[in-house]
Amino acid sequence: MAIDYELIVGMEVHAQLSTQSKMFCGCSTDSWDSPPNSHTCPVCLAMPGMLPVINEEAVAQTIRAGLALNCTIAEDAVFARKNYNYPDLPKGYQISQYELPLAVNGWLDIDTAHGSKRIGITRAHLEEDTGKLVHDGDVSLVDLNRAGTPLLEIVSEPDLRTIDEVNEYLARLRQILIYIGASSGDLEKGAMRMEANLSLRPRGSSEYGVKVEIKNLNSFRAVRNSLEYEIKRQSALLDAGGEVEQVTMGWLEQEGRTYVQRSKESAHDYRYFPEPDLPPLFVERTWVHELRSSLPELPLARRARFQADYGLSQTDADILVADQSVADYYERVVAAVGGAMDAKKVANWFMGDLFRLLNQRDLSLTQSPISPDQFAALLKLVAGKTINANTGGKVLDAMFRTGEDAETIVEREGLAQVSDADVLARAVDCVLADHPEDVARYREGQTKLLGWFIGQVMRETRGKANPGIVRQVLLERLG
Ligand code: ZN
Ligand code: MN
Repeated sequence: MAIDYELIVGMEVHAQLSTQSKMFCGCSTDSWDSPPNSHTCPVCLAMPGMLPVINEEAVAQTIRAGLALNCTIAEDAVFARKNYNYPDLPKGYQISQYELPLAVNGWLDIDTAHGSKRIGITRAHLEEDTGKLVHDGDVSLVDLNRAGTPLLEIVSEPDLRTIDEVNEYLARLRQILIYIGASSGDLEKGAMRMEANLSLRPRGSSEYGVKVEIKNLNSFRAVRNSLEYEIKRQSALLDAGGEVEQVTMGWLEQEGRTYVQRSKESAHDYRYFPEPDLPPLFVERTWVHELRSSLPELPLARRARFQADYGLSQTDADILVADQSVADYYERVVAAVGGAMDAKKVANWFMGDLFRLLNQRDLSLTQSPISPDQFAALLKLVAGKTINANTGGKVLDAMFRTGEDAETIVEREGLAQVSDADVLARAVDCVLADHPEDVARYREGQTKLLGWFIGQVMRETRGKANPGIVRQVLLERLG
C-alpha cells in the first residue's frame, strides 16, 4: 500500500544584484548582449597579484534585502574563500560569505490556501558569480563576462510543504527584490537561479528524511517540474522499501528528469577560510538605519493598505500591487479623480478596460499612451455623467489610438450623454410607436422586454442616452 508522504523543501536562491559594476572590480555588469570576455579585467580574470576591492553598492543592496526579509544585519561580516576547481572559475575559488554572513534569521510571509504562512530565512549573503561555459560541438569555451558579478544568496528554512508554497515563496521573494531595486528578477537573463533541497517523510512523522538537492533551476516551471519528478521518484523508491541517497542532482529540462551530478559535498570539501585579500566588514548601525529608511513600502504592506484605504478585495489589491509601476499609476489616478469616483470603481476600470487595451497592444503600463491624469479626466466625465460608462469605454479606446484627451474626443465626436428628459422622451415615443406589438406584449406581463426597449432607445440615440432617465421615461409611458 502506498504511504502518504509529506514534502519538505528549503530553497536557495541566487539573485543577481542590480549594480553598475562587478563585485570586486570596475567592470560593467551590463554584458548581456556583449561579445564573450569583453567585460573583463585583470581582477576578474584572476591574474596573479591582482587584488579585489569591495563594491559598496552591492553591500548596501544586500543589507537592504536583508532588512526587507526581516533579517538581523550582522555587525561584523567576513568574506570567505570557497575553494573548488571548475573551468568557469578562474581563481579556483569563489569569494563568498560563510560563518559571518551579512544577514541572518529573517522571514517572509506567503499566502497559502489556509491563510498566511511565515517562511524562515536562514541567511542572506553576498558572493560573486562565476563565468559560464559555452559548449560548441566537441569543445567548451569559457566566457568570463559574468565572472565577478555580485550575487545575493538567500537560504530559506525547510518550512515549505507543498509545491504551491514553493512557487508562492519564490514569487514573493522575487517581487520584494524587484520592489527594493536590488535585482531585476529577470529570469530569462538568469538574474534568479534556484536550488531546491527536498526530502520526503511519512505524513505525521517528525523526523526528516534524506535530503536531495536539485541545482541550477532557472525558471519557476523548472522548480515545479523537477520537484514533481523527484516526489514521484522518491516515493516510489520508499514504497518499494528502498532508501533515498543524499546526492546533488541536475535537471534536464528537455527530458523532464533529474540526474545525479555528484554525491553530496560537505562544507569541509570547500575548505572555507577567511579571504586574506579583503578586510572584515564592520557594518555601522547608522548606515543600517539609513538603508532601512531608503526601503519603499513593501508589496504585502501596500496590499493591506490598498484593502483598507480603497476598499479593495485582497485579490484585486494583489493584482494592483504585483507591479510597483501599476500600483503607482493606480494611486495617481485615484488622487487625480479626487473622490469624484470611488477607488474601487477606479480599480474596476483599471483592471477591466485599461488592462484589456494594454494586453491587446502588448504594452506595459509604463508604455501606456495615456497618462494617469488623462485617465482620471475620463473617469471624471463618467462619474459626472457627461458620458455614460459604455461611451467611456469607447472614448478610452480612442484615447489609446490617438493619445488625445477624453474631453477633446467627446466634444469632437459629439458623444456627450443626453440627459435632457424631453429629448429622451421623443426618442422613447419613436421606439414605442415603431413596435406596437412589443408594447402590447409588455402590457400583457412580459416586463422583461424593458431591457430590450432601453437597448432600442440607446440605439436611437447612438449610445448617448442617459440609461437611467430612459428607463424612467419608459416605465412612465408603458404604465
Ligand atoms: Zn573585472
Ligand atoms: Mn552560492
